[in-house]
Amino acid sequence: MTDSPVHAELDRLADLAAGRVVAWRRHLHRHPELSNREEGTARLIAGHLRSLGLDEVRTGIAGHGVVGVLRGTAGGGGGRVVALRADTDALPVRDLCGEEFASRVVDADYPGGPFPVSHACGHDCHTAMLMGAATVLSEVRDRLPGTVLFVFQPAEEGPPVAESGGARAMVEAGAFAGPVPTMAFGMHVTPYPKGYVGYRAGVQYGASVLVRITLTGKQVHGSTPWQGVDPMPAAGAVLTGIGQLYRQVSAFDPVTVTIGHVEDVGRFNVIGETVTLWGTVRCAAESGMAEVQDRLRRLAEHSAAAYGATAEVSYLQPVPPVRNTTPWVEAALPTLRRVAGPERVAETGTTLGYDDVSELVSRFGGLYVMLGVQDAVLDADGRPVPEEGGRGLVINHNPRFYADDDTLVTGVRLHAHVAYDHLTGALLPAG
Ligand SMILES: [Zn+2]
Ligand SMILES: [Zn+2]
Repeated sequence: MTDSPVHAELDRLADLAAGRVVAWRRHLHRHPELSNREEGTARLIAGHLRSLGLDEVRTGIAGHGVVGVLRGTAGGGGGRVVALRADTDALPVRDLCGEEFASRVVDADYPGGPFPVSHACGHDCHTAMLMGAATVLSEVRDRLPGTVLFVFQPAEEGPPVAESGGARAMVEAGAFAGPVPTMAFGMHVTPYPKGYVGYRAGVQYGASVLVRITLTGKQVHGSTPWQGVDPMPAAGAVLTGIGQLYRQVSAFDPVTVTIGHVEDVGRFNVIGETVTLWGTVRCAAESGMAEVQDRLRRLAEHSAAAYGATAEVSYLQPVPPVRNTTPWVEAALPTLRRVAGPERVAETGTTLGYDDVSELVSRFGGLYVMLGVQDAVLDADGRPVPEEGGRGLVINHNPRFYADDDTLVTGVRLHAHVAYDHLTGALLPAG
């Protein structure tokens, strides 16, 4: 693939848009919204897309999803359709990123709240970068032989359990019924050297499911536990037993089971009726998911029975793994190398994070990559380590997670180049 004058034009336009992209990112960072509550974010996005004169700006998809449709006028293409996707929601995490645009937002009404809210996963960057890419690509519409869908997806982090939302909900709402994408593309900002692009053929992110375990006993005064059934020791037994699950499944396919939240209804002198454990199961191999779920259910039910309590185990919000196929990776590598520079494109390992962009990549084909945004260097084994004098490596979802503004233009260019290359037929899997 040779570089065309259009590629240079995309870069020039991305540089021109960079200032606005940083401003959007900072605005979004100051005004984060939790999953399925992305109202202001969606309004900002839709307003911008309309200002670009796109062919269509669809709003209110599966909650606050927005899809902009840009039909290229170059003609002569293969009728291809590229879906560029950004997620838009924030997390119930305090913002300790240390920037002057740090969030002080608290969502008082969210189920289970009140929660502090912040973009601790960097979706502010994703949204701003895709708004920038829409700016760039709309300027070269007459050079595009196909259609671009700008997909702004809510609730990637998972909606409240009583609600639906996210990528699958957008699919079910018909967001991709027409035109149907011939490629989906997404990226995630990550603790990796600034401006580096990480890719992986095979599983990039694992399969995920939310687990809720409700242990039920019989409420009683704290001074007479024998007159009731205390679900608390059963909860303790489940938590301890989870450590043994790892030894019951193959050590060669990584699995994690994490209980991140315990909900108890007792008080210091009341043994409550229930204890609810909320957690997440992650598997590098999707095939391992059913087995881990069965074993966890068995552990919970039998541990509870040992204490005279009962356990009800529910698995919610399943997300398939993000799997990049080798043909798509090979097709995209020239594009990635052109955008980031060949020395800044590196193969990464599998992680047990998840991203429901997998709903799109698995349906339509395409690719998902990581974009480095932190003060890091790669060690001899290709693993990111902190850069001397930098702010260190801070994983997503940590209150101190940070992303460097200077890296955003690389994300804008990635979206633009991937879209252009796919529509022109340069980025297509062999076979
Ligand atoms: Zn996240
Ligand atoms: Zn994320």
